Amino acid sequence: MATGNDARAREDEGLIRLSDDQQAIISAVREFVEEEVFPVAEELEHRDEYPDAIVEHLKEMGLFGLTIPEEFGGAGMDLMTYALVVTELSRGWMSLSGIMNTHFMAAYLLRRHGSEEQQERFLPRMATGEIRAALSMSEPGAGSDVQAITCRADRDGDEYVVNGAKMWVTNGLRSGVVVLLCKTDVDAEPPYRGMSLLLVEKEPGAGTFQGITIPPNIQKMGYKGVESTELVFEDHRVPARNLLGGEEGKGFAQVMDGIEVGRVNVAARAVGLATRAFEEAIRYAQIRHTFGVPIAQHQGIQFMLAEMATKLEASRLMMMQAAKKKSAGARSDLEAGMAKLFCTEACHQIVTDALRVHGGYGYSAEYPIERLYRDAPFLLIGEGTSEIQRLVIARQLLERYKVQG
Ligand SMILES: Cc1cc2nc3c(=O)[nH]c(=O)nc-3n(C[C@H](O)[C@H](O)[C@H](O)COP(=O)(O)OP(=O)(O)OC[C@H]3O[C@@H](n4cnc5c(N)ncnc54)[C@H](O)[C@@H]3O)c2cc1C
Repeated sequence: MATGNDARAREDEGLIRLSDDQQAIISAVREFVEEEVFPVAEELEHRDEYPDAIVEHLKEMGLFGLTIPEEFGGAGMDLMTYALVVTELSRGWMSLSGIMNTHFMAAYLLRRHGSEEQQERFLPRMATGEIRAALSMSEPGAGSDVQAITCRADRDGDEYVVNGAKMWVTNGLRSGVVVLLCKTDVDAEPPYRGMSLLLVEKEPGAGTFQGITIPPNIQKMGYKGVESTELVFEDHRVPARNLLGGEEGKGFAQVMDGIEVGRVNVAARAVGLATRAFEEAIRYAQIRHTFGVPIAQHQGIQFMLAEMATKLEASRLMMMQAAKKKSAGARSDLEAGMAKLFCTEACHQIVTDALRVHGGYGYSAEYPIERLYRDAPFLLIGEGTSEIQRLVIARQLLERYKVQG
């Protein structure tokens, strides 16, 4: 019997014509998630435990090198494949896609903006997952307002000396390389002209390392298992050859390019999370009885299921459209922003409805819904809040629809 997932795979094929290789990867990830992640996600999440065994398996499957070109040991797949893989992983446990996301964004930035020497030095080890990457922009005093960062890197001979504090670094502890947004010219006006990206190498898992201190993990409401940390730099020295692309002042534009990819990722996560919430709700609605019938027979519940499925379908299409555009190398801040905004807000509503369908059991830690319910709000915030997406979208619209004269 065809499951909802089989049907979805066929629809995707019609929309985007996946190659045999792409389809094989996505099917393998789906199978892995259903067999290896579904049974343990709740337990690991409640213990806030890093999924070491799962990450080892993801490495063996080559997922850390999914989009890294074959010449560097990766699989050379496009952003669409990656987005669909992220959707499958998030259907099992959103934190897995968090472990992948900053690594993938760092690989993207190296590929697009790194020098040949930097690509050769980092990408092969990133492709195997031997080193995993973090991406650090946010600070205690600056999130949405990226230009307000204060972390600085002062040139001293062949090195930069880094000072400052970073906040909310996903994979901050276990990463072997952190792509760090900092100021190499603190007097530049406007500030973005003085910002650069440095490839900071460190010992994975070490709480202190040559002028870098990583305080204990930030405790969170959801998105558990994957660590979020602060990073405190005190006279940490980075070789000048680790300046991404070799030219100062390019960091803001580089990171904004990378963040479009991150927004597609977050949209894909939202689709995965919402898919799971919908599947849980429609199953539960057919086995839970009230007033002598399954609750799925009540029109009030049917309306909720219909709304959820419609929002999910629209989300999936928007996410794939944004992935397609960015994959083709086109500027896609409008599409990525719209997909991020719509998919994450829809996901939040779908998960809330799924909780309602479950009644009191939705509130119980015995069912996956309470985990999905705690994970969903992060998507409204990470890679730029919904308010920031609206600003990005409006700015682009006003540019595209500018009244001449
Ligand atoms: C679990 C988690 C993981 C994260 N991982 C990373 C990571 O790996 N790397 C990284 O660099 N960052 C990471 N972040 C940081 C994240 O990107 C920021 O939290 C986000 O960009 C919002 O910034 P802020 O928290 O400083 O909120 P603020 O910028 O202080 O915003 C507060 C509120 O004001 C609103 N607001 C701000 N400006 C405007 C405006 N102009 N108009 C209207 N409303 C506005 C916001 O939408 C929000 O509602 C992570 C965050 C979390 C929670």
